[in-house]
Amino acid sequence: MRLIEKKCPNCGANLEFDENAKSCHCAYCKRSFEIERDLNDVDKFNLIYEKIHKPFKAIFIIPFVFAAVIFLIILFSIIFGFRSTSRSMEEEFNEKSTEIKEKIDEREKIIKDASELTTENMDAIDRHCSSLLHQSTVGRSDTTYSYQTTGDPRLVKTYVAYKKDTNYIISIYSVIYHNFFNQSDQQTVYVPAVIENVKKSTSFMTKAKNPAPEYYLNEDHSTYIYAYASAEDAYNGVVKPYEEDGYKISEK
Ligand SMILES: [Zn+2]
Repeated sequence: MRLIEKKCPNCGANLEFDENAKSCHCAYCKRSFEIERDLNDVDKFNLIYEKIHKPFKAIFIIPFVFAAVIFLIILFSIIFGFRSTSRSMEEEFNEKSTEIKEKIDEREKIIKDASELTTENMDAIDRHCSSLLHQSTVGRSDTTYSYQTTGDPRLVKTYVAYKKDTNYIISIYSVIYHNFFNQSDQQTVYVPAVIENVKKSTSFMTKAKNPAPEYYLNEDHSTYIYAYASAEDAYNGVVKPYEEDGYKISEK
């Protein structure tokens, strides 16, 4: 057995290998070579790097391909997963928008029946009407016919008159007037307050009007207010005309 000396085809360092060896390894550049013998010249050895390393290269590629496939699977699932998530978020947003729009539309609808009047409606109507029935003094102060309201106006009944998308909300209040100079002269009168086109939102009420006729507090008819003597008179005077005009009347 003899040792063959060659120069490394890669780095030029000295390489030694057995004459029968099939491969050799460079201690400097760490490369391995296949040894190819020349059939015509037994002393001629070719060191071939490519042959011995190609199969290894192919083997090393497999995990990379495998990793790439897994990476692509993950990437696609993230993209499609995100797309389906964003689509459901969009659907949810649209549903919510429709829901809110329906709620707004619903609130913009006119009140058709007294049963639709909410506490919110009633409070707004009461605030609006009571402000028109504020405490007052009527009659001449230099005579015995001077009257003043006692306490706050009290809501007796609320009616809704509805026809063809128009409504009138009629609230009848009782108000007590007392004679400033004669405590026994105390009279309860009924004052209607009417507002138009009340929507469920309560925010679009038009100006209230007081349609009551003159009501005389004293016998010589010198002191009057706008009111009715009874709740029934108020109904007949204000609500009934709407009923006769084809309005549907409901009460609360
Ligand atoms: Zn080398």
